[in-house]
Amino acid sequence: MADKKISYGRQSIDETDIAAVANSLSSDFLTQGSVQGEFEAALGEYTGAKYAVVCSSGSAALHLAYMAAGLGEGDAIVTTPNTFLATPNAAILAGARPFFSDIDPETLNLSLDLLEDNIPRLLKNGRSVKAVVPVHFAGNPVDMERLSAIAEKFGLIVIEDACHALGAVYSGTNGSSVKVGSSRDSDMTVFSFHPVKSITTGEGGAITTNNRDLYERLKWLRSHGVIREAGEFKYEDIASSSTTPPPWYHEMHELGLNYRLTDFQCALGLSQLKKLDGFIGRRAEISELYDTLFRFSAPITPPPRLVRGTSSHHLYVIQIPFEEIGVDKTLWFNDMAARGINLQVHYIPVHLQPYYRESFGYEPGDFPAAENYYKHAVSLPIYPSLTDEEVEEIALTIKKSLGIEPFSNS
Ligand SMILES: *Cc1c(COP(=O)(O)O)cnc(C)c1O
Repeated sequence: MADKKISYGRQSIDETDIAAVANSLSSDFLTQGSVQGEFEAALGEYTGAKYAVVCSSGSAALHLAYMAAGLGEGDAIVTTPNTFLATPNAAILAGARPFFSDIDPETLNLSLDLLEDNIPRLLKNGRSVKAVVPVHFAGNPVDMERLSAIAEKFGLIVIEDACHALGAVYSGTNGSSVKVGSSRDSDMTVFSFHPVKSITTGEGGAITTNNRDLYERLKWLRSHGVIREAGEFKYEDIASSSTTPPPWYHEMHELGLNYRLTDFQCALGLSQLKKLDGFIGRRAEISELYDTLFRFSAPITPPPRLVRGTSSHHLYVIQIPFEEIGVDKTLWFNDMAARGINLQVHYIPVHLQPYYRESFGYEPGDFPAAENYYKHAVSLPIYPSLTDEEVEEIALTIKKSLGIEPFSNS
């Protein structure tokens, strides 16, 4: 196995994807063609949201969502420390200050009990909290009905970071089930199409929303804040003396960026989206196989089961009490890599990053649940093309290396 390296995640690209991209590359438009609109319509249809806006990355999608929500100087957001850097970073880029609220060790998502206490505390301390940003960690949906009720109580915008969760389903009360991205219980939902995510466009991302104003603003902000729709113009008289605006006329109403996604990437995304349910199905099988193989006798803690609906199985995270069993995590990690199995850790709690400590004064101990989880967390390989044999090999190698008795054949 040592000569075949297994990574923790990877894309699944087949001949139909390659043909779709090749076809798009020989069309007239490399960017701003018709495939962007088709991909957006397909994303809206898949998630159940009215509108979808694609852009150049998940990080760009977060930045656009924060800007569209009107976050700026003096404003604050609250999110989880157990996330990728982009979730809070993009808020800072939009001018806002990110605050963290600790995780629930059972779900590894934001603890909604803590959130309910922390928001009024921040408000009382004069923080202008404007938005809450839940992350559906590993693909397990946050309880969005409860979260949106908390947000409503304090008049907050809700932006879901669903970069792990395209294809996941959220089940609320009364047996209602919606796709993550339906934005039924939020203002906007953000996705990433990085190669390790549910589907890929190379780099890429998207925002879904049911709010027409947010939708328009997201589109304008994606392209330098430039407006081309005649009905929206403020000063069309400056460009022409005629009654209709000339074809070249456009207006810039606010500061935007170039966060567009190319048409050949949209072609890849559209082709990938058709296979999404198959990808999720295979991830679910792998997850089940790991469950069976580990049987979760102590000391390994299984991934969270408290799923509200069905997971997209983006990550398969186990927790190993390294100190207790006298194993050095780094040495063990390197040993597994030497055996051809590349693991990952999601995530180093964001507040412990030097930038966050230096900018905001965070210290170890500030978010104990996220820090404790991080010490023990290991993400195992999971992606659609991983074979059952590889999964078996990974589980066996881990059990042997930790001195856990090898599983029997019964
Ligand atoms: C991947 C990811 C992002 C950023 O997406 P990119 O496309 O890599 O910019 C943001 N948040 C979370 C939780 C992610 O997993």
